[in-house]
Amino acid sequence: MPIRIILVGPPGVGKGTQAALLEERLGAKQLSSGVIFRSEIEAETDLGQLAKSYIDRGELVPNGITIQMMVKRLRTDDVRQRGFVLDGFPRTVRQAEALSEELDKEGIPLDAVVSLEVDDEIVVERLSGRIGCTKCGEIYHAITKPPKREGICDKCNSPLFVREDDKPETIRERLRVFHENTRPVIDYYAGKGKLSRIDANQAPEAVYASIATALGEA
Ligand code: AMP
Repeated sequence: MPIRIILVGPPGVGKGTQAALLEERLGAKQLSSGVIFRSEIEAETDLGQLAKSYIDRGELVPNGITIQMMVKRLRTDDVRQRGFVLDGFPRTVRQAEALSEELDKEGIPLDAVVSLEVDDEIVVERLSGRIGCTKCGEIYHAITKPPKREGICDKCNSPLFVREDDKPETIRERLRVFHENTRPVIDYYAGKGKLSRIDANQAPEAVYASIATALGEA
């Protein structure tokens, strides 16, 4: 049975890490809006150019563009067959409503909506040292999880980079945007009785175990 799950939470809470684990272990396709935007920027597409100006400032890309981009991916055969782990989408109530409409129209049920929760100070700490691999997407941290060789990925030997939007001023703005726009999304799913809240201030495996339990109970 394909699994369909939404991960919601502030930037840096570990949505990407958990989405990758869920894809690896349960086979559902990871759909990370931030990753998709960054690959559009890398490929220098029109969508990428448009998105970049918002992303670099820590603001949200407009709903219309984001919804269209995600719905297109939800409709692919691969995602229909394997299910999905949504990471970073929906981030506004408008996006959540558009997603509900799409899933209702297609008769696709959601298995779980998981809210990963940590305090703001922890977000700032985690993002301030975050380093990512340009190729395989592995995530490191300057203090808590440094690569063996500085600037090089342990897994695939590609160069590592610091995201433009992981600079301190932008991190604060992304947190502000989260509280203003994405907290209401959490309330939206709580109101529908669909939400599982998980303490994400734990090691990745412990967070994964909590998500697996939530899925089992859903
Ligand atoms: P992330 O990798 O999830 O932290 O996303 C990086 C950036 O991409 C965000 O700060 C936003 O600028 C943009 N972005 C990602 N997902 C969305 C979304 N669902 N709606 C609007 N903007 C988004």
